[in-house]
Amino acid sequence: MNLIVIGCGRVGSELAYHLFKQGHQVCIVDQNEKAFLGLPIDFHGRTLGGDALNQIILRRAGMETADGVVVVTNSDMTNAVVGHVAQTVYKVPSVVVGNFEPHYRYIYDAFNLQVVSPSHWGAQRIEEMLYGQEARMVFSAGNGEVELYELLVPPVWDGHFLRELIPDQDCTPAALTRAGRAVLPQLDMLLHQGDLLLVSATLEGIRDIRRRLESLQEV
Ligand code: AMP
Repeated sequence: MNLIVIGCGRVGSELAYHLFKQGHQVCIVDQNEKAFLGLPIDFHGRTLGGDALNQIILRRAGMETADGVVVVTNSDMTNAVVGHVAQTVYKVPSVVVGNFEPHYRYIYDAFNLQVVSPSHWGAQRIEEMLYGQEARMVFSAGNGEVELYELLVPPVWDGHFLRELIPDQDCTPAALTRAGRAVLPQLDMLLHQGDLLLVSATLEGIRDIRRRLESLQEV
């Protein structure tokens, strides 16, 4: 694939190198040419010095024929604008942008861009790792707004209704596996110790479930 990475910083250099190693044609752009010194010596993709807000630079990078563009500069405005231009003017099939400051997320949403927020995502992951392992995250959708968690029903929950464990909002039970057989869970099902429950939840939803699990444990 013909891929362009804009911003040769912490995320961009790592990504460009990885894409190059995967065999793609990679062009990495940065307004500060010294940034290219951070690339591994065995990176043999194209480097292009220049401001990504300049359309001449974008065209030189190959925007008109790119299969994918990633915009990961340290400016949220630049990422949003260049991502929007790539999507609407150059009709690049796949555009992904980085969100530097979490409170600027709304800009990307307004442009309907695929966005990854490393700081927001990292903070969420760290919070999850700090807590107990009774609910293990197995899949993260979007930018972690909704995640799938796997819960092993502990002995104290044996004989309780599923609805006692699942909050009314921010959470949907997705599957319940008992003795190796999975079913779509109904809220009036009785839980058995050792059931493996898969739930789809927001961060608020999983916090609520963890509180419920602990509250019964303490009785
Ligand atoms: P980092 O802060 O490590 O994520 O690096 C971000 C990179 O984006 C830096 O190397 C900046 O020079 C680069 N950058 C910021 N704005 C632009 C821009 N308008 N055009 C090209 N590169 C940029």
